[in-house]
Amino acid sequence: MARVLFINGGSEGHINPTIGVVQELISRGEEVVYFTIEAFRERIEKTGASVRTFDDQKFIKAFISGGRDYLLERINGLLLTAEIVIPSVLEQIKDEHFDYIIHDSMFGCGRLLAQILKLPAINSCTSFAQTKESFDQMLEQLSLKIPTEIVKPIYDKFQSLTVMVKDKYGVEIHSPYEVFCNPAPLTLVYTTREFQPKGEAFDQTYKFVGPSISSRVTQENFDLPAIKEKSPIYISLGTVFNQGIDFYKLCFEAFGNTDHAIVMSVGNRTQISDLGEIPKNFIVKNYVPQTDVLQFAKLFITHGGMNSTHEGLYYGVPLIVIPQSADQPIIAGQVANIGAGIKLQMQSLTANQLREAVDHVLSLSSFKIAVANIRESFRKSGGYHQAVNEIFEFKSQYHI
Ligand code: UDP
Repeated sequence: MARVLFINGGSEGHINPTIGVVQELISRGEEVVYFTIEAFRERIEKTGASVRTFDDQKFIKAFISGGRDYLLERINGLLLTAEIVIPSVLEQIKDEHFDYIIHDSMFGCGRLLAQILKLPAINSCTSFAQTKESFDQMLEQLSLKIPTEIVKPIYDKFQSLTVMVKDKYGVEIHSPYEVFCNPAPLTLVYTTREFQPKGEAFDQTYKFVGPSISSRVTQENFDLPAIKEKSPIYISLGTVFNQGIDFYKLCFEAFGNTDHAIVMSVGNRTQISDLGEIPKNFIVKNYVPQTDVLQFAKLFITHGGMNSTHEGLYYGVPLIVIPQSADQPIIAGQVANIGAGIKLQMQSLTANQLREAVDHVLSLSSFKIAVANIRESFRKSGGYHQAVNEIFEFKSQYHI
């Protein structure tokens, strides 16, 4: 048995794929100490891991204080969270021994902690992976679009933050890539190499284990049997970029009082009472047991979050992807490339366009065939079982 330190400061999309991994690690005899924010305590404790937390309010405040307009500002924000996460983790694990660390690829300063603690490290990547080359290229292209008087102070701030980290913790940061992607000797990517853009560019330290989808706690306020027979269309913009009251109303306009049964998740920050009258064929909730509903859905209208996309395809559901932000346009592009759905733009979207898109996807068999193919490849890839196989292979290489 080894002791595993798990670091993950991310939102739900960064947590969900790790649940099966932790459960599987524990069933194979590992002891897992999982650092996260309080909101995910219950979900993670159910795996049998011991949960410890850092202050989520301070964490988010630090992240946002880096600025939100440019990628380099977000990188500075991630570096600013070091001040919140690192002292808290170090204090809470004082005098404890760990054999290796698994950290999120973005949130929680995992790479820094691995270096400070001198632990063999595994990177848990819940979105598409990025090579240093492709990341640097993207950052350069984005920087070229920003006036120098704006870029320079942001870059200077990055440099000063790296000096601060070096002075405090004795570890060097060589590039923004290290902060944004937290590279490690082993990276677990929860997709397949085929679905990953430029999948062939990744060396053997990247293991594409496929979607890691495990059973969730059943949600009590949702009448699943009532929708089972109805093959609903499921609509969700995920848990982060989900304040889309106009979009939700547009869905009422597009599908209200049609023959489609609709289940719509509007997120915890939307008041359902602000949506006005809800058409009879809609079930609207702040949060929906998504992986349960998808098993009966005929179509998924999604923002194209990595997890939502994987979950839809894993359950054989064609997608209409309306990307909101972050990596979602790239994910939407991949869905369209493999023919498993179509991509729409939020800005110019009309009810008519959305209705026509649904008719189009539901009527063409090519979408069903493409979805069946990707579903098959996702199911074969192994998910969290394969992730833990890779972790054990890694352990044997490191004589753990
Ligand atoms: N989710 C859910 N019910 C909801 C909304 C979201 O269970 O009503 C889950 C969904 O199954 C997925 C995660 O939240 O696992 C959202 O992650 P994703 O990467 O799709 O998007 P994000 O929320 O990070 O934008």
